[in-house]
Amino acid sequence: CGIVGYIGHREAYPIVLKGLQRLEYRGYDSAGIALFDGSELKMSKTKGKVADLKARLESEISTNGTVGIGHTRWATHGEPNDVNSHPHYSNSGDLVIIHNGIIENYDALKKELKKRGYTFKSDTDTEVLVNLIEDVIKKEGVKLGKAVQIALNQTVGAYAIAVFNKTKPDEIVVARLGSPLAIGVGEDEFFVASDASPFIEFTNNAIYLEDGEMAVVRRHKDVRVRKIKDDSLVDPYIQELQL
Ligand code: GLU
Repeated sequence: CGIVGYIGHREAYPIVLKGLQRLEYRGYDSAGIALFDGSELKMSKTKGKVADLKARLESEISTNGTVGIGHTRWATHGEPNDVNSHPHYSNSGDLVIIHNGIIENYDALKKELKKRGYTFKSDTDTEVLVNLIEDVIKKEGVKLGKAVQIALNQTVGAYAIAVFNKTKPDEIVVARLGSPLAIGVGEDEFFVASDASPFIEFTNNAIYLEDGEMAVVRRHKDVRVRKIKDDSLVDPYIQELQL
């Protein structure tokens, strides 16, 4: 299982696709990619291999866009099939998430969200998390980063996640607890991935998030790292990778 993301000035699709191929060694049963082209959020996902995804995606959606996230899934909640594959949209269609790991208390959270009118297409714990984040945004009027933080503080489990909001398309929010997450810091571009292999050809500056940390990577700006629990800012250590 693996995650990859890109935000910057290049076309995201080839970077995300190749990144998923480099993460194939981690094992998986399904794969998917979401792309944002400046107006539309597009997604394609499938049970099977990254090669199957490539064939399907290129016939289903246009591949342009400078923001993208991709996922290889190792199913824990819900059988391996197209619908349970990631990414997952929130009910409004504004948010999209990829997730490696397990949200252990997803059932209780799902019941609460159902009472509040949320519906679910998949059997995954992940679709619960993205709707919980959406619910926090609606209830509290906070930005995506804050909403992710509030939502994660209501979860029990393990995760590496990347979340994107098409109404605030200049940032990607990532977080980690128990699953690895690296951020590649380029010139006016950011990469996020389970390890550095998807971005090593573009930058050798990497931030490895520690467990319990989250980061907001912002186009034309910087990266902000915080502790999920207490909101304290972390001064990120940018490691120089040896090529
Ligand atoms: N728990 C999630 C699912 O079953 C993520 C699995 C993974 O780590 O790929 O969809």
